[in-house]
Amino acid sequence: MSLLYEGKAKRIFSTGENDVLRVEYKDEVTAGNGAKKDLIEGKGRLNNQITSHIFNYLKAKGGKSHFIEQISETEQLVQSVEIIPLEVVVRNIAAGSITKRLGFEKGHEFDEPLVEFFYKKDDLNDPLITEDHIKLLHLAEDNEINSLKEAAKDVNAVLVQLMDEMNLRLVDFKIEFGRTNDGQILLADEISPDTCRIWDKDSDTNFDKDVYREDRGSIIETYQTFLNKLEAL
Ligand code: UDP
Repeated sequence: MSLLYEGKAKRIFSTGENDVLRVEYKDEVTAGNGAKKDLIEGKGRLNNQITSHIFNYLKAKGGKSHFIEQISETEQLVQSVEIIPLEVVVRNIAAGSITKRLGFEKGHEFDEPLVEFFYKKDDLNDPLITEDHIKLLHLAEDNEINSLKEAAKDVNAVLVQLMDEMNLRLVDFKIEFGRTNDGQILLADEISPDTCRIWDKDSDTNFDKDVYREDRGSIIETYQTFLNKLEAL
């Protein structure tokens, strides 16, 4: 089975089956577009297990994605899609880049979930882009942009509820979408503590990559605790 693509956190392989790919989660962890980088044993296993759990949960709630099944500790099978080069970020609470960009206090609760688009382009540092930019760059049509926003808000609603049951607050997250051969838009990539901000409701503990970004402890312990909470539900 040949390697089709290798990114910062995952490797993608072809399989014997048409339109089915194998994703292997790597132990590499990066922040700040690769400025900080480490190999942390066990990170790939945790993100594969957490993403598999969350995609299965979304499916049970009627949400479609590219995810087919988890096949080992570090691997899953997914439907082949062409990734739309947009990072779709949903925010419930201000943290990270929006506090610097617009001056919101960290922790400010938004009146309603906010959806933002970032252009996935490493050499431009993944800039925030407008819907008009998305059209000018021919990344997606009007109706598709609306579908992406609605789908992102639907994922948010399901995940906010899930986190609430775990006594956690879903601050923000990033998702990606892809197009299938027949042009259908599907949720793709991963949903893990690498791509979300998750805060404990009662303490200032967080269960996400900020622990790594800000050198605040072991991400293995952090992600494992989050997985244990997910599996205990
Ligand atoms: N995010 C991500 N990949 C990226 C950029 C952001 O998964 O390349 C996630 C990040 O973990 C957070 C959300 O998207 O949950 C919003 O990130 P933000 O725009 O605040 O950027 P950051 O502060 O992480 O640079």
